[in-house]
Amino acid sequence: MSPIAYATVPRIETDDRWAKWYTPPGRRSISTRPDPYGTTRVCLIFVTPVDYMQHSQQERIEILRTQFNGAGWEAERILSQLDQLDDLYCEDLVQVKAPRYSSGRVVMIGDAAASATPISGMGTTLDHQVAFERYERIMRPIAEKAQHLPGFIPVAAHPRTRWGVAILRGLAAIVGTLWNLPYPQLVVDLFHKQDFGTDNIKVPEYRELHGVWASQV
Ligand SMILES: Cc1cc2nc3c(=O)[nH]c(=O)nc-3n(C[C@H](O)[C@H](O)[C@H](O)COP(=O)(O)OP(=O)(O)OC[C@H]3O[C@@H](n4cnc5c(N)ncnc54)[C@H](O)[C@@H]3O)c2cc1C
Repeated sequence: MSPIAYATVPRIETDDRWAKWYTPPGRRSISTRPDPYGTTRVCLIFVTPVDYMQHSQQERIEILRTQFNGAGWEAERILSQLDQLDDLYCEDLVQVKAPRYSSGRVVMIGDAAASATPISGMGTTLDHQVAFERYERIMRPIAEKAQHLPGFIPVAAHPRTRWGVAILRGLAAIVGTLWNLPYPQLVVDLFHKQDFGTDNIKVPEYRELHGVWASQV
Protein backbone atom coordinates (compact mmCIF):
# COMPACT_ATOMS: atom_id res chain seq x y z
CA MET A 1 0.00 0.00 0.00
CA SER A 2 1.09 3.56 -0.67
CA PRO A 3 -0.43 6.07 1.74
CA ILE A 4 -0.31 9.76 0.85
CA ALA A 5 -0.53 12.60 3.34
CA TYR A 6 -1.42 16.07 2.04
CA ALA A 7 -1.15 19.29 4.02
CA THR A 8 -0.66 23.05 3.75
CA VAL A 9 2.32 24.69 5.45
CA PRO A 10 3.40 28.35 5.69
CA ARG A 11 5.52 29.43 2.72
CA ILE A 12 9.16 30.20 3.44
CA GLU A 13 11.78 32.06 1.43
CA THR A 14 13.21 28.97 -0.26
CA ASP A 15 9.78 27.93 -1.58
CA ASP A 16 9.94 29.29 -5.10
CA ARG A 17 7.35 28.90 -7.86
CA TRP A 18 8.47 25.37 -8.74
CA ALA A 19 6.90 22.12 -7.62
CA LYS A 20 9.66 19.91 -6.21
CA TRP A 21 9.86 16.20 -5.65
CA TYR A 22 12.44 14.56 -3.37
CA THR A 23 13.07 10.82 -3.19
CA PRO A 24 15.38 9.55 -0.41
CA PRO A 25 16.00 5.83 0.14
CA GLY A 26 13.43 3.97 2.25
CA ARG A 27 10.46 3.85 -0.16
CA ARG A 28 9.24 7.37 0.55
CA SER A 29 9.02 10.73 -1.15
CA ILE A 30 8.28 14.34 -0.30
CA SER A 31 6.91 16.93 -2.67
CA THR A 32 6.18 20.62 -2.23
CA ARG A 33 4.38 22.98 -4.52
CA PRO A 34 3.32 26.61 -4.20
CA ASP A 35 -0.42 27.30 -4.17
CA PRO A 36 -2.13 30.53 -5.28
CA TYR A 37 -2.92 31.48 -1.66
CA GLY A 38 0.58 32.31 -0.40
CA THR A 39 1.09 28.92 1.27
CA THR A 40 2.85 25.72 0.23
CA ARG A 41 1.21 22.33 -0.33
CA VAL A 42 3.19 19.32 0.79
CA CYS A 43 2.71 15.72 -0.03
CA LEU A 44 4.32 12.76 1.79
CA ILE A 45 4.13 9.34 0.16
CA PHE A 46 5.51 6.06 1.45
CA VAL A 47 5.14 2.35 0.77
CA THR A 48 4.11 0.06 3.61
CA PRO A 49 2.58 -3.41 4.09
CA VAL A 50 0.45 -1.94 6.92
CA ASP A 51 -3.10 -0.66 6.35
CA TYR A 52 -2.33 2.95 7.23
CA MET A 53 -5.88 4.17 6.73
CA GLN A 54 -7.15 1.89 9.53
CA HIS A 55 -5.33 4.07 12.06
CA SER A 56 -6.65 7.15 13.86
CA GLN A 57 -5.41 10.55 12.71
CA GLN A 58 -3.08 10.84 15.70
CA GLU A 59 -1.61 7.38 14.96
CA ARG A 60 -1.15 8.37 11.33
CA ILE A 61 0.83 11.42 12.42
CA GLU A 62 3.08 9.21 14.56
CA ILE A 63 3.62 6.80 11.65
CA LEU A 64 4.55 9.75 9.40
CA ARG A 65 7.11 10.84 11.99
CA THR A 66 8.66 7.37 12.01
CA GLN A 67 8.58 6.98 8.23
CA PHE A 68 10.14 10.36 7.43
CA ASN A 69 12.50 10.65 10.36
CA GLY A 70 15.96 11.50 8.99
CA ALA A 71 14.71 11.58 5.39
CA GLY A 72 16.54 14.84 4.69
CA TRP A 73 15.62 17.87 2.57
CA GLU A 74 12.34 19.40 3.85
CA ALA A 75 11.44 16.43 6.09
CA GLU A 76 12.34 18.10 9.38
CA ARG A 77 10.46 21.29 8.49
CA ILE A 78 7.30 19.34 7.69
CA LEU A 79 7.54 16.89 10.60
CA SER A 80 7.99 19.73 13.08
CA GLN A 81 4.62 21.16 12.00
CA LEU A 82 2.62 17.95 11.97
CA ASP A 83 0.82 18.74 15.22
CA GLN A 84 -0.25 22.21 14.10
CA LEU A 85 -1.59 21.24 10.69
CA ASP A 86 -5.32 21.80 10.45
CA ASP A 87 -5.86 20.25 7.02
CA LEU A 88 -3.81 17.05 7.12
CA TYR A 89 -5.56 14.66 4.75
CA CYS A 90 -4.51 11.06 4.24
CA GLU A 91 -5.53 8.56 1.61
CA ASP A 92 -4.23 5.44 -0.09
CA LEU A 93 -2.85 5.70 -3.59
CA VAL A 94 -5.73 4.13 -5.49
CA GLN A 95 -7.04 4.04 -9.01
CA VAL A 96 -10.68 4.03 -10.08
CA LYS A 97 -11.36 1.43 -12.76
CA ALA A 98 -15.11 1.51 -13.21
CA PRO A 99 -16.45 -1.24 -15.48
CA ARG A 100 -18.70 1.40 -17.11
CA TYR A 101 -18.73 5.17 -16.99
CA SER A 102 -22.48 5.57 -17.36
CA SER A 103 -25.71 3.86 -16.47
CA GLY A 104 -28.85 5.22 -18.06
CA ARG A 105 -28.91 8.96 -17.39
CA VAL A 106 -26.19 8.88 -14.76
CA VAL A 107 -22.61 9.41 -15.83
CA MET A 108 -19.30 9.49 -13.98
CA ILE A 109 -16.60 11.78 -15.28
CA GLY A 110 -13.03 12.71 -14.47
CA ASP A 111 -11.48 11.02 -11.44
CA ALA A 112 -14.83 9.53 -10.40
CA ALA A 113 -14.75 7.38 -13.53
CA ALA A 114 -11.07 6.84 -14.14
CA SER A 115 -8.73 8.29 -11.55
CA ALA A 116 -5.23 7.53 -12.74
CA THR A 117 -3.56 8.54 -9.38
CA PRO A 118 -1.65 11.68 -8.43
CA ILE A 119 1.69 10.10 -9.30
CA SER A 120 0.81 8.78 -12.75
CA GLY A 121 -0.20 12.18 -14.15
CA MET A 122 -2.72 12.31 -17.03
CA GLY A 123 -5.63 13.07 -14.68
CA THR A 124 -6.21 16.53 -16.11
CA THR A 125 -5.84 15.08 -19.61
CA LEU A 126 -9.01 13.11 -18.87
CA ASP A 127 -10.81 16.39 -18.16
CA HIS A 128 -14.33 16.89 -19.45
CA GLN A 129 -14.79 20.67 -19.44
CA VAL A 130 -14.08 21.04 -23.17
CA ALA A 131 -16.56 18.25 -23.87
CA PHE A 132 -19.22 20.07 -21.81
CA GLU A 133 -18.73 23.30 -23.76
CA ARG A 134 -18.99 21.45 -27.08
CA TYR A 135 -22.08 19.58 -25.88
CA GLU A 136 -23.76 22.89 -25.06
CA ARG A 137 -22.76 24.43 -28.39
CA ILE A 138 -24.50 21.59 -30.25
CA MET A 139 -27.50 21.10 -27.98
CA ARG A 140 -28.42 24.66 -26.97
CA PRO A 141 -29.98 25.75 -30.32
CA ILE A 142 -32.06 22.55 -30.38
CA ALA A 143 -33.09 22.94 -26.73
CA GLU A 144 -34.10 26.55 -27.30
CA LYS A 145 -36.37 25.53 -30.19
CA ALA A 146 -37.86 22.73 -28.08
CA GLN A 147 -38.54 25.21 -25.27
CA HIS A 148 -40.67 27.40 -27.50
CA LEU A 149 -44.15 27.11 -25.95
CA PRO A 150 -46.84 29.68 -26.91
CA GLY A 151 -48.28 31.12 -23.70
CA PHE A 152 -51.90 30.08 -24.45
CA ILE A 153 -51.11 26.33 -24.77
CA PRO A 154 -51.21 25.38 -21.04
CA VAL A 155 -54.57 27.20 -20.67
CA ALA A 156 -56.03 25.80 -23.90
CA ALA A 157 -55.00 22.26 -22.89
CA HIS A 158 -56.86 22.61 -19.56
CA PRO A 159 -60.31 24.07 -20.25
CA ARG A 160 -62.34 25.58 -17.42
CA THR A 161 -65.84 24.68 -18.64
CA ARG A 162 -67.60 21.54 -19.89
CA TRP A 163 -67.93 23.19 -23.31
CA GLY A 164 -64.21 23.79 -23.41
CA VAL A 165 -63.52 20.17 -22.54
CA ALA A 166 -65.96 19.04 -25.24
CA ILE A 167 -64.18 21.19 -27.85
CA LEU A 168 -60.77 19.89 -26.77
CA ARG A 169 -62.00 16.29 -26.98
CA GLY A 170 -63.55 17.00 -30.41
CA LEU A 171 -60.23 18.34 -31.67
CA ALA A 172 -58.43 15.31 -30.24
CA ALA A 173 -60.93 13.03 -31.99
CA ILE A 174 -60.34 14.80 -35.33
CA VAL A 175 -56.58 14.50 -34.94
CA GLY A 176 -56.90 10.83 -33.94
CA THR A 177 -59.12 10.12 -36.92
CA LEU A 178 -56.77 11.82 -39.36
CA TRP A 179 -53.89 9.85 -37.86
CA ASN A 180 -55.73 6.57 -38.46
CA LEU A 181 -56.69 7.54 -41.99
CA PRO A 182 -53.93 7.54 -44.57
CA TYR A 183 -53.08 11.15 -43.61
CA PRO A 184 -50.72 10.91 -40.64
CA GLN A 185 -48.34 13.28 -42.42
CA LEU A 186 -51.06 15.94 -42.26
CA VAL A 187 -51.08 15.67 -38.45
CA VAL A 188 -47.31 15.73 -38.33
CA ASP A 189 -47.27 18.86 -40.51
CA LEU A 190 -49.98 20.47 -38.38
CA PHE A 191 -48.30 19.98 -35.03
CA HIS A 192 -44.65 19.78 -35.96
CA LYS A 193 -44.35 22.75 -38.25
CA GLN A 194 -41.01 23.49 -36.62
CA ASP A 195 -37.98 21.53 -37.61
CA PHE A 196 -36.37 20.87 -34.24
CA GLY A 197 -33.29 19.60 -35.97
CA THR A 198 -33.18 16.49 -33.80
CA ASP A 199 -32.80 14.31 -36.90
CA ASN A 200 -29.83 16.38 -37.96
CA ILE A 201 -27.75 16.49 -34.79
CA LYS A 202 -24.27 16.10 -36.08
CA VAL A 203 -22.10 14.23 -33.62
CA PRO A 204 -18.51 15.33 -34.26
CA GLU A 205 -16.09 12.87 -35.74
CA TYR A 206 -13.04 12.47 -33.54
CA ARG A 207 -10.61 10.85 -35.92
CA GLU A 208 -8.01 10.37 -33.19
CA LEU A 209 -10.43 8.01 -31.40
CA HIS A 210 -10.95 5.73 -34.39
CA GLY A 211 -8.12 3.45 -33.31
CA VAL A 212 -9.57 3.21 -29.80
CA TRP A 213 -13.01 2.28 -31.07
CA ALA A 214 -11.62 -0.21 -33.55
CA SER A 215 -9.73 -1.99 -30.76
CA GLN A 216 -12.89 -2.19 -28.64
CA VAL A 217 -15.27 -3.47 -31.29
C1 LIG B 1 -1.11 15.89 -5.53
C2 LIG B 1 -1.72 15.67 -6.90
C3 LIG B 1 -0.95 15.92 -8.02
C4 LIG B 1 -1.48 15.70 -9.28
N1 LIG B 1 -0.73 15.98 -10.38
C5 LIG B 1 -1.24 15.84 -11.60
C6 LIG B 1 -0.46 16.18 -12.75
O1 LIG B 1 0.67 16.61 -12.67
N2 LIG B 1 -1.04 16.02 -13.97
C7 LIG B 1 -2.32 15.56 -14.11
O2 LIG B 1 -2.79 15.46 -15.23
N3 LIG B 1 -3.07 15.24 -13.05
C8 LIG B 1 -2.57 15.37 -11.80
N4 LIG B 1 -3.33 15.06 -10.71
C9 LIG B 1 -4.67 14.52 -10.95
C10 LIG B 1 -5.67 15.62 -11.27
O3 LIG B 1 -5.58 16.63 -10.27
C11 LIG B 1 -7.07 14.99 -11.26
O4 LIG B 1 -7.09 13.90 -12.16
C12 LIG B 1 -8.13 16.00 -11.70
O5 LIG B 1 -8.08 17.12 -10.84
C13 LIG B 1 -9.51 15.34 -11.63
O6 LIG B 1 -10.48 16.29 -11.92
P1 LIG B 1 -11.98 16.04 -11.47
O7 LIG B 1 -12.74 17.25 -11.93
O8 LIG B 1 -12.44 14.70 -11.95
O9 LIG B 1 -11.97 15.92 -9.89
P2 LIG B 1 -11.52 17.02 -8.82
O10 LIG B 1 -10.53 17.99 -9.38
O11 LIG B 1 -11.15 16.21 -7.60
O12 LIG B 1 -12.86 17.81 -8.57
C14 LIG B 1 -13.91 17.27 -7.80
C15 LIG B 1 -14.62 18.45 -7.14
O13 LIG B 1 -15.82 17.96 -6.51
C16 LIG B 1 -15.93 18.57 -5.24
N5 LIG B 1 -16.76 17.69 -4.42
C17 LIG B 1 -16.44 16.50 -3.88
N6 LIG B 1 -17.48 16.00 -3.20
C18 LIG B 1 -18.49 16.89 -3.33
C19 LIG B 1 -19.82 16.93 -2.86
N7 LIG B 1 -20.33 15.95 -2.14
N8 LIG B 1 -20.56 18.01 -3.18
C20 LIG B 1 -20.06 19.00 -3.95
N9 LIG B 1 -18.79 19.02 -4.43
C21 LIG B 1 -18.03 17.98 -4.12
C22 LIG B 1 -14.49 18.69 -4.75
O14 LIG B 1 -14.37 19.68 -3.75
C23 LIG B 1 -13.77 19.09 -6.03
O15 LIG B 1 -13.76 20.49 -6.22
C24 LIG B 1 -2.82 15.24 -9.43
C25 LIG B 1 -3.59 15.01 -8.29
C26 LIG B 1 -3.06 15.22 -7.04
C27 LIG B 1 -3.93 14.97 -5.83
